[in-house]
Amino acid sequence: MTKLIGITGGIGSGKSTVAQYIQGKGFPIYNSDYWAKELVNIDQNLKLKITQLLGENAYHNQKYNRKWVADKVFKNHDLLQQLNQIIHPAVAKHFHNWVSQQNSSFIFKETALLFELGLHKNCYKTILVTADEEIRIHRVMQRDHKTHEEVTEILLKQMPENKKREFADFVIFNNDTIADCLQKTDEVLEKLIQLDNNIL
Ligand code: ATP
Repeated sequence: MTKLIGITGGIGSGKSTVAQYIQGKGFPIYNSDYWAKELVNIDQNLKLKITQLLGENAYHNQKYNRKWVADKVFKNHDLLQQLNQIIHPAVAKHFHNWVSQQNSSFIFKETALLFELGLHKNCYKTILVTADEEIRIHRVMQRDHKTHEEVTEILLKQMPENKKREFADFVIFNNDTIADCLQKTDEVLEKLIQLDNNIL
């Protein structure tokens, strides 16, 4: 039976680094954050619903006008919630369709909001990638050319790491080098495979 493993972590924690490594080992990975950004452009039903909610300006030359939408919902929490209530089910539907096409014993889902949206309840196990706040901030500053303040603002809106740890089955502490992070990822993969063998 296919088992779903959730991978999550706050901004700059290294979840994509871990997910890409696992994908490189041949496991199927679904990247929810990537598909959320893609589907607003390619899912016709979703496009229609977004236009109905936000108006024609949500698209410019048929392309999702991310900046305009972000500005519009920035200070309107209700509107943001309504937008999310349209986008999240579309991603969930796309994900279920993807799952039905997989036949690997383990499949992985990378999602920033795994615990926030309660998606961990559908997972066999969950992996939290985490690192100290200042380390994460500096990694994102370097990656996205953002200021300390800009990254901190995003970070403070996310669920605190100690809360996430309560939900996670495995925690990868990514304070050290990437090589160390990938070694820890291998250890988690080994544990998952062992667990699977014990069950069979
Ligand atoms: P986001 O949620 O912001 O997309 P993320 O959790 O997916 O972030 P990554 O993109 O994997 O995090 O990592 C953030 C940045 O830090 C990347 O540029 C990545 O290459 C780098 N990075 C990740 N782990 C390490 C590490 N152990 N040492 C140095 N740099 C790292």
